[in-house]
Amino acid sequence: MRTEDVYALILGSGPAGLGAAYRLTKSGVAPVVLEKMHVAGGLMRSIQRGVFSVDLGRKELYSRIPDVDRLWTEVLGDAYRPYPHRVGVVYHNHIFEIERKYRGVRRGVPWPMFFLGVLDYLRYAIKFRVKPMHNYEEYRYRRRGRRFTRMFAQGFIEKFEGKRWAEMPPEEEVGVQQATLVEVALGTPTAMGQTHWRHPAKGSGQISQSLEQHIREAGGSFHFGTQVSEIHVSDGRITQVYAKTENEELVFHPKHVVSSLPLEALCQFILPNALGTGSQDVTGKTPVGKSTILVYIFSAAPPIFPHAWLNVTCPTTRIGRITNYAAFNGEMVPKGQTCLCVEFFCTGSDPLLDLETEALHTLALEGCAKFGLLAPATCFDHLVLKLPGVDAATKWQDWITDARQQLLTAIRPIENLYNVNRPGTDKATYAGLQAAEAMLTGDRTAFDRLTDPLSDGFL
Ligand SMILES: Cc1cc2nc3c(=O)[nH]c(=O)nc-3n(C[C@H](O)[C@H](O)[C@H](O)COP(=O)(O)OP(=O)(O)OC[C@H]3O[C@@H](n4cnc5c(N)ncnc54)[C@H](O)[C@@H]3O)c2cc1C
Repeated sequence: MRTEDVYALILGSGPAGLGAAYRLTKSGVAPVVLEKMHVAGGLMRSIQRGVFSVDLGRKELYSRIPDVDRLWTEVLGDAYRPYPHRVGVVYHNHIFEIERKYRGVRRGVPWPMFFLGVLDYLRYAIKFRVKPMHNYEEYRYRRRGRRFTRMFAQGFIEKFEGKRWAEMPPEEEVGVQQATLVEVALGTPTAMGQTHWRHPAKGSGQISQSLEQHIREAGGSFHFGTQVSEIHVSDGRITQVYAKTENEELVFHPKHVVSSLPLEALCQFILPNALGTGSQDVTGKTPVGKSTILVYIFSAAPPIFPHAWLNVTCPTTRIGRITNYAAFNGEMVPKGQTCLCVEFFCTGSDPLLDLETEALHTLALEGCAKFGLLAPATCFDHLVLKLPGVDAATKWQDWITDARQQLLTAIRPIENLYNVNRPGTDKATYAGLQAAEAMLTGDRTAFDRLTDPLSDGFL
């Protein structure tokens, strides 16, 4: 058993862990990173398949946190390229646009469907002016009518969140605002108010590769294939972290610990008896919470549609989202070829998780063919990744549950622990940067205020 004293021990090399390690090395501190996989980046890593280098599912990178936007620009330079960010929705045999700029006010909705949608909007607006709303579905129908809501949002959001709107309570009355006819027709502005979108030419993993290189050059070290196995806490501090490789056990005595491990994984070590910890149930088989399945399909023909991704609102399929990596203005896909990633979002012991790889591939391929998004005869390869316990959420609101809130509260008092795992690659990176700043200055006020999702100042 090898024992080592370290100043800063980073658990997991996700964007949060790498953000912390990068900031520390900039100030001359050499951190030690433990990562159970053989590559850095966590859920931001790229998937290499022959000459293809693609993201893990759909990756939309946000510029909403200036420190992170600057960091990504600094490490990528010209490889951080603008792309059109054209997003569509698949509803039965149609592709509609999210943004008006592509196919006008109707966003590709044929005239008869559009008129029926407007009439339907008026019907629901009047109906719920006189009748109370009983559930969230009715709340949404009141705002935009049933038809437009189903075409543009409902099926996708229900699949993504794993909740049926008809079984959820309506929003607070105070928040209910009737969409105007103009809003119904024109929709909302660009997602999150961001107007310029960029993506690494070789995929999101290019950021983690670049950060890893900088960290190594500045003296930081990475232990890949090394799984954290125990964390000892005494008097409100982490005193020892145990980790295992294939052939040895390592023990670290850290001054500070930064964890980008998924919250449940971290808490399994620190609060083994806490209710709802772990991504699996007591039998170790059934994933608790959300899981994601990714099916990559490689085709020798150019893409049939121009969108970077499609949200699948159509209720006739379990497919949730389809990413088209050739549409990111980069080099993830060789010219004239296509790679689509079909995402399935699962909740609890979803039967999809029991399907064999080939059955999942068939489901994805047939789904894409049915919607006219791919010609099966041109496909020459596929890859299926089942990610039990992995939540594709990018927003705090989609990620937080009562159980997670309890876990966050329980680990908060551990004074040398910086839990930086966050939904959203930018928020995770920012939490890492702030954790490093806190260690370097000896003051964790800003870290707690700006990056703790339970704090009022959370960015
Ligand atoms: C399908 C999908 C789509 C997404 N889309 C977007 C998007 O469009 N935009 C966006 O901003 N975010 C997106 N996200 C979310 C984003 O990827 C995560 O929020 C982000 O990666 C979290 O970073 P992190 O560093 O906190 O953790 P992670 O990226 O989860 O990294 C955790 C690391 O810890 C390692 N680890 C786990 N257990 C151990 C152990 N016992 N010992 C050692 N190492 C361990 C893991 O191998 C991993 O490398 C998406 C996620 C998924 C799954």
